[in-house]
Amino acid sequence: MATFMNKQRYLQEFDREHIWHPYTSMIDPLPTYPVFSARGVRLTLADGRELIDGMSSWWAAIHGYNHPVLNDAAHKQLDAMSHVMFGGLTHQPAVDLASLLVDLTPEPLQKVFLSDSGSVSVEVGIKMALQYWYTLGYPEKHELLTIRSGYHGDTFGAMAVCDPETGMHHMFSRILPQHHFAQAPQCKYDDPWNEDYIRDFKDIIETHHRTLAAVILEPIVQGAGGMRFYSPTYLKRVRELCDEFNVLLILDEIATGFGRTGSMFACEHADIVPDIMCVGKALTGGYLSLAATLTTQKVSDGISDGGTGALMHGPTFMGNPLACSIAVASIKLLLSSPWKELIKNIEKQLIEELTPCSQLPQVADVRVLGGIGVVELTNPVDMASIQKRFVDKGVWIRPFGKLVYTMPPYIISEQDLTAITTAIAEVIAEEGLVE
Ligand SMILES: *Cc1c(COP(=O)(O)O)cnc(C)c1O
Repeated sequence: MATFMNKQRYLQEFDREHIWHPYTSMIDPLPTYPVFSARGVRLTLADGRELIDGMSSWWAAIHGYNHPVLNDAAHKQLDAMSHVMFGGLTHQPAVDLASLLVDLTPEPLQKVFLSDSGSVSVEVGIKMALQYWYTLGYPEKHELLTIRSGYHGDTFGAMAVCDPETGMHHMFSRILPQHHFAQAPQCKYDDPWNEDYIRDFKDIIETHHRTLAAVILEPIVQGAGGMRFYSPTYLKRVRELCDEFNVLLILDEIATGFGRTGSMFACEHADIVPDIMCVGKALTGGYLSLAATLTTQKVSDGISDGGTGALMHGPTFMGNPLACSIAVASIKLLLSSPWKELIKNIEKQLIEELTPCSQLPQVADVRVLGGIGVVELTNPVDMASIQKRFVDKGVWIRPFGKLVYTMPPYIISEQDLTAITTAIAEVIAEEGLVE
């Protein structure tokens, strides 16, 4: 027991001294919890405590952890090959995955670029748009238009279209390319449409379309930039305006893809199709880092019809066979599950069980869409203390700023989801007492 405790302490101390975590300081960082294993919707901490997972490891682990089907796919692929370069070589896992993605995404999306993370897939999407106009003879079309409260990743191209204030990147603003930001959509998911909602966006695209390569945004759900849900009509109008002014539309479905909002991709809520789509996160069911950028024949023809004809990107681990075969297994698993029903049930339960929180004075808003439940507080939480209170209640919830939210694995049971919503309600009620 003593050596176990020593090992635990060593882990935490080494981690604290030497390892950066997402968005953390190396001076007096917040505590981290050593996790030993994970199975289904449960994380087992190194001290033996079990936590019900309310985060799906940031949208990714939709089938839960340690899934036999995904494990099996990984083992089989390991025995064949873990990785080979993608320059000049191809393989079954990449072909199978691309074929599934082409089938699953809206029809015009036919060409697939496989990359290693969501941020990179956004870089590739932006590059596709710029190269398209460059090759067609419009090099002046090199700017982007996005909406505020967005999040597209942490690399420089992606940072440049994250919300300039909540985007956590303002210190880099002087060296980032300057793009255009429209007001974040003010319409909630089911608000009746009013053309005023799109006014600011429309003004900007009207004024700047000659220099705009593309609009980039997260369809329906804005994730890390504020967990906001907006009206499908807004997205429809964006598509119409992009067509009217000859600007490409890039949809970042990295968080929303693979069923999370109740449809396979969030663009289906608005019945529109982008010119370029980015997917990641849930693509491998949370097993490995993998992302993809899809585009249309029109865009890929444009890119290839002049200059070198080549799309100028090619990461070392592009098309990694291990990640691709797990992604294939994960997508097939999703398609063979009653995922729509699972998400509908989660949505219904989240509405029932989180809505009462809106009575509390410290709560500004409660919103639910598909498998996403958000409680927005009036004030930012104290991370260290709120994190500990959730862990003490046996659930893994990771708030940020004023937002306490959950997007559990699709396989979560009614009971386990109630444990999560109960913990959220209790912790938030206490939050009113904490100064
Ligand atoms: C997470 C996320 C990204 C970045 O993906 P990484 O894999 O973290 O690089 C980009 N866009 C959206 C909408 C995301 O949620």
